[in-house]
Parts: sequence; structure tokens; C-alpha cells
Amino acid sequence: MSITREEIVDKLVGLVGEDQVITDADVLQESSVDRFRRFEAFHGVFRLPSPAAVVNVYSAAEVAAVLKFANANRVHVVPRTGHTATEGGLETILENTIVIDGSAMNKIVNIDTENMQATVQCGVPLQVLDDQLREQGYTTGHSPQSKPIAQLGGLVATRSIGQFSTLYGGIEDMVVGLEAVFPDGGITRIKNVPRRAAGPDIRHVVIGNEGALCFITEVTVKIFKYFPENNRFLGYTLDNMKTGFEILREVMVNGYRPSVARLYDVEDGAYHFSHFADGKCVLIFVAEGVKPLADATAGAIQEIVAQYGECEPVEAKLIERWFAHLNWDPANLAEEKTEIMETKNICNTTEISGSWSIINGIYETCMQRVRDEIPDLTLLGGHSSHSYLNGTNLYFVYFYNVVDCKPEEELTKYHLPIKKIIVEETIKAGGSMCHHHGVGKHRTPWIEDEYGSSYYSLDTLKKAFDPNSVRNPGTIIPLEK
Ligand SMILES: Cc1cc2nc3c(=O)[nH]c(=O)nc-3n(C[C@H](O)[C@H](O)[C@H](O)COP(=O)(O)OP(=O)(O)OC[C@H]3O[C@@H](n4cnc5c(N)ncnc54)[C@H](O)[C@@H]3O)c2cc1C
Repeated sequence: MSITREEIVDKLVGLVGEDQVITDADVLQESSVDRFRRFEAFHGVFRLPSPAAVVNVYSAAEVAAVLKFANANRVHVVPRTGHTATEGGLETILENTIVIDGSAMNKIVNIDTENMQATVQCGVPLQVLDDQLREQGYTTGHSPQSKPIAQLGGLVATRSIGQFSTLYGGIEDMVVGLEAVFPDGGITRIKNVPRRAAGPDIRHVVIGNEGALCFITEVTVKIFKYFPENNRFLGYTLDNMKTGFEILREVMVNGYRPSVARLYDVEDGAYHFSHFADGKCVLIFVAEGVKPLADATAGAIQEIVAQYGECEPVEAKLIERWFAHLNWDPANLAEEKTEIMETKNICNTTEISGSWSIINGIYETCMQRVRDEIPDLTLLGGHSSHSYLNGTNLYFVYFYNVVDCKPEEELTKYHLPIKKIIVEETIKAGGSMCHHHGVGKHRTPWIEDEYGSSYYSLDTLKKAFDPNSVRNPGTIIPLEK
């Protein structure tokens, strides 16, 4: 069954009303991309088909009506909340897609301090929820750099992680229950309980689905008591990353849980901590919680680090100052555009994870290969920012000047070849190609290698929940699959 662009818009207007169906050409064009293509977008180059409409939804019932219509008519849909995606998850790669925007579903439904959980609609910005909680002495513990803009629906859909993850975990550790709408319009509610053993945990069908299986309409997350007055800040400079990984491992395997545990290499360290890094790697910890716990954690970390002669302590105030400016400031968006347009210098990143025994090898191999194979780099660095009992992540950061090519060639000349090196070397070593930004549309070529023999389960999930392949096509699973 094929349906025209005009018929799609008419039908949507009938379902939710004219004022909720946006067909303005500029809005549609901006809605065809996310930050992955920002260099092209800044230059006014839009190569993907504009969606037929952006539909603003206000309830699960509206989402269900739109999805049911789309599914019945084989119309593709891309869900959206904060629009901070970095891996092409929001790209509309097929003609006449509908973008369903949940950011108007922005009610904080309930803050339950007895059961330590908060329920919000998908469009609540994390900053809004956390500010409200902090006024009452609580926090979500979730602090991705995109906190001011990212919203709970997208944060759950991408399996996001925040800067205090070593204590509070990733979003998968925080989600208690949720509500989501599947392509046939069926509304699923997963109740809020402390734990369950009634078969597989189907929260994980929804968490990380990147819009490829369902639309998340409501989320319940844990909340924690907030004791900022007890925060302890520790910082060190050191000669090499290998020592830093060893220290992170010592801290984690001995059971300490600082909220922040970060290790920067020389170039990334110089970029973030120019006032004290002095050509060295930088190691940072923040211990938080009730005072005895924060003090014990900080004391134990100091003891561990003292065993490594190359570590020089840094004044705690310098780390505290850094901590006060953790997050992305949306006010800088215009500035970022001007700077990139003027300098043709742009920053991109790729994040992966690996166990302790392979992480330094991945770091060294990727750094060497990117340096050898990619032209026009102006900064190549990396840091570990999320540690676990059995390993850690690496966040590769690269700036390059876009030289001798059209805006639309930036990706194929620089960002994608760098990503390819990092992803391939990580998978080869036995790590995960994707630590927290999602697969989006640009890590799909390696999805089968990432999953190995478990790819069967992923493929079966997609076929079962999205039999007509209408949900965010080309995301997580490549289009041709
Ligand atoms: C400067 C910057 C810093 C960042 N820092 C971090 C960080 O520290 N940690 C981190 O994890 N990420 C980070 N990110 C990435 C991004 O912010 C996260 O992926 C975030 O979770 C996306 O949330 P969003 O509301 O903006 O979602 P969107 O960008 O709107 O969407 C992201 C993906 O989720 C899908 N989606 C959105 N809403 C729904 C829904 N309701 N139901 C189903 N699917 C949906 C979309 O289709 C898309 O595939 C950063 C991004 C930027 C630009």
C-alpha cells in the first residue's frame, strides 16, 4: 500500500489536529539530521529526504494513534525528544518519514520520596527533573554532559550514561519501570518494583532501542539522597595511561565507588586542564554520599594512588572548579557554529568499552592508527570516564581541519574513517564498539560483528516488534537487513 506525502499529512491532521502537525520546510529540513551531520547542516547542505511532517504528541493515546496509522500504511517513523543525538539516530533516510516529537510530553508525574523513585513523561529534560529533586534534597544521579537539553525518553532510548556513573550506574541501572507504545499501537506498561524474577527482564527490550522498536512515553527512575556538602575532590597528574588504567582497576576491584573516576591522556588533558596538566596525563576522582562513606572512599583512593610514584597530587580546588562546569551549555550552540564555520576545525568523538586486560592495547593501537592514517588532525586524545568492576570505557576525541573538500565530504574523509578504525580495533580486541552514544545509523555496518552469535536474538526482536520495518529504519540494524 503506498500513500502520498499529502495523504500522510491529511491523515495526521485528522488524528491529532492541525496545530500539532508541522510542515514548515525549514523545520522539516532540520529534522532530517542530528549532530552527526552538523558540519553539513551549518553549511546549509541537507542531503537526506525531509520528513513529511513533525508531529508533536501530548499523550500515549496520540502516539498510539499515529503509530497504528504509520504501521498500517508502511510509513516510516523516527521518534525524537531532546534532539541531541550524535550518531545519526534522528536521520530520516527514507522519503516521507514522520518524526514523532515527544518533547511536549513534559510533565513530572510523581516524585515518590518514600519509595525513592520519580515518574516523568518522555519529554521532561533531565535538568528540569534533577533541579526539582535537588531542591528537595534528592538527585537522579544521572549527569550526561547533554543534561540541560536531553530528555528522559531519548536518554532511556540510547542507554545513556552520566558523569557520576561509577557510583549511580548507567540509565539501565536507574530505570525502574516505564510505558512504551509499539508499532501496532499497543501500549505496554512495565510496573515499578524493586526487583523481579518473572522471566526475562523486558525493560531491556525498551532501554536502548533507539526508536527502532517502540516509542517510550513515560519513565520511572530511582532517586538518591543528595549530599553535595560532603563531596571530596581528588586530582593527580601522571606520566602514562597504562598506570592510570591500573589505578582505576585497583579502585574498582577493591570495591570503592567514587562517583567520578576519569583518566585523560596528554592531549585531552591539555585541552581540559591547561592550567595544571603540564604535558601529563590527568586522573580525577570525586567521592560523594554520606560523610563517612565519602571520606572513606577518598581516603582509600589516596592510599591506592600513593603506591604509584609517578602520580603528583593536584590541588582539590582545581578539580572542584572543573566539576562546577561539567555540562554542555546550550547557549554556546551559536558560538560553536560560528567557530566551526570560521576555522573549518571540528571536534567529533567515538566511545567504546573493554575489559581491563585489553583497554590499554585498544587505546594504543587506535591512537597510532588514527595518527598514521588520518590527515589534518589538530588534536587526537582520549579519556576513560566510566569504570566498572571488570573494565572501563574509552572516549576518543578528535579535532581536524576540514581541508580541500566540500562540506558533504567531511564525514567520508575524516569522521567515518576514524570511527571505522576505532570500532574495528575494539571489536577485534574483544570490546564493545559502542559505550553510550547508541549505534545510530553509522555503526550499523559492524552490528553483526558486535553481537556475534547473539545477533540472532537482536534480529528476531526487530522482526517480532516491527514486522513492517517502519520504526527508525537503518538504526541499530542496517537498512538492507
Ligand atoms: C554535547 C553533547 C554531550 C553529550 N554527552 C553525553 C553523555 O555524557 N552521555 C551520554 O550517554 N550521551 C551523551 N550525549 C548524547 C545524547 O545526549 C544522548 O544520546 C541522549 O540520551 C539523547 O537524548 P535526547 O532526548 O536528546 O534524544 P534524541 O536526540 O531526540 O534521540 C536519540 C535517539 O533516541 C530515539 N528516541 C528519542 N526519544 C525517544 C522516545 N521517546 N522513544 C523511543 N526512542 C526515542 C531517537 O529516535 C534517537 O535514535 C551527548 C550529546 C551531546 C550533543
